Amino acid sequence: KLINKKSRNYYLPMKQGNKFERYIAVIFFVTIVTVILTSYFTLKDVINSHNKQVQSAVTPLFSLVTSEILRPLNVANFMAKNQFVIDYAEQEEIDKSYLVSYLEEVAKSYNMMAFIALEKHDTMIDSNSKEGTLDSENVEWFHRLKNLPGDQFTDIGNAENPHLYFDNKIRNSKGEFIGFTGVALDLKYFANKFQEYNERFGFELYFVDSNNIITLSSNNIMKSQSHHRTDLITRLSDLPWHQSLIQNNHADSNLSSEVMYTTDEGLLISQMPIQELNWRMFIVSPPAAEQNAYWKVFIGRFMLFFIIVIIFYMALLTIIKYLKSRLIKHAETDHLTQLPNRSHIHWRFDDIAKNNQNLCLVLADIDNFKNINDTYGHLVGDDVLRIISEQLSQTLRKIDVVGRWGGEEFVMLLPETSAEQALIIVERIRKNIAAISFPISTTSGSFSTTISFGISESPIKNQNIENYIQGADKALYQAKSNGRNQSVIFN
Ligand code: GH3
Ligand code: MG
Ligand code: MG
Repeated sequence: KLINKKSRNYYLPMKQGNKFERYIAVIFFVTIVTVILTSYFTLKDVINSHNKQVQSAVTPLFSLVTSEILRPLNVANFMAKNQFVIDYAEQEEIDKSYLVSYLEEVAKSYNMMAFIALEKHDTMIDSNSKEGTLDSENVEWFHRLKNLPGDQFTDIGNAENPHLYFDNKIRNSKGEFIGFTGVALDLKYFANKFQEYNERFGFELYFVDSNNIITLSSNNIMKSQSHHRTDLITRLSDLPWHQSLIQNNHADSNLSSEVMYTTDEGLLISQMPIQELNWRMFIVSPPAAEQNAYWKVFIGRFMLFFIIVIIFYMALLTIIKYLKSRLIKHAETDHLTQLPNRSHIHWRFDDIAKNNQNLCLVLADIDNFKNINDTYGHLVGDDVLRIISEQLSQTLRKIDVVGRWGGEEFVMLLPETSAEQALIIVERIRKNIAAISFPISTTSGSFSTTISFGISESPIKNQNIENYIQGADKALYQAKSNGRNQSVIFN
């Protein structure tokens, strides 16, 4: 039964997935899934550790950057708290050139612009010897900041050449406000510094004040920042990555602590408060681009792997099919005649009988074959078997099946054929065989032989091959006893 089932795969299209092939499919499937999962988790690990590295790289950057901001802040603070400055400002008369030389000294020492604005003297002087009264348009900030609570301010001013001003209130010994002093840095200075960090670390830097307005940044949006030109102000909420944080309810949840977020796009955002200024600094790290590249590479590699596996799988299936068909062919083919053997005929019968109402089975037996063997030898007998086999299979239709039943007996299955039609076919074959002159390989002579046929026809109630064979065998016996070289229908 097992052999019958196997042979179906070779002679007929496969009707159902073979167990073995299903095993192979499962193995391939498991392999693919394993590789995907392993690669996926490996990549995730790699990205995670990469993010951690970025995170730890941010901390020194933070102190580096804040020192740029805090340095001028400290200088401004020092100036405002300087007792000599306070005392001098309190005097009724001041020497402006003396103040200029003081400011020049500070500017030279710290490499930044220094200024002082005194309310009592209605004057504003800077280290570039520029001076004016407090009602001039570009001293608008004085009145604005004066009324704000707190003593320390940072402000972007000077529309033509934006500077970051670090303004400190000067208070006299009674604590009364008497003016401002401080320093200013050209925004170009920060732009260059941050550009440098950006190039070195690949980070974008953003500084926002307590109103969430961008004060400084490593990209060029900073250049247009000025409180004098409010229409050009960029707010934190204008930045796409911040939008993404808002959507994920991350934004502004922790204003005064160091926090790290990852946006949907994979940007790594570190928030660092700069308490001295009531500012926040954002470091936007670029792993997004790299991360996406990782995933792109991963997906690309995986597709390649998948295609290779599929090709490999197909190739393996083809090879297996081929080897199997060869094996089955080998197992179910008679070596001498190259006709299907009895076991093949058995399952072919089942298949044909199932789908055909009119089925004829024919048994053929070479007449006096023993004599041929005895007279010319077994090898010549074999030649006869081969030639007759060829003759049988050549004469039949495609849907017919012919096989070697054993010895010098053959069997034919003729679907959709009545006994009368079978008789016509078989008679033609019989006459053809009788006309063949068989060569004697040892000598140059030849001889002829004949063949007898027994035909059994459906419908037979119990359609199994044994019943057909029995009928055909009886008819064949009759043909032999009637003198051989004839065809008889069983009835
Ligand atoms: P009948 O007309 O009654 O069929 O007489 P027969 O001689 O053909 O029948 P019998 O069954 O007496 O002889 C069959 C012979 O076929 C006997 C056996 O040696 C021979 N034979 C069977 N298989 C082979 C084979 O593969 N090769 C050869 N050369 N001979 C075979
Ligand atoms: Mg026989
Ligand atoms: Mg015989």
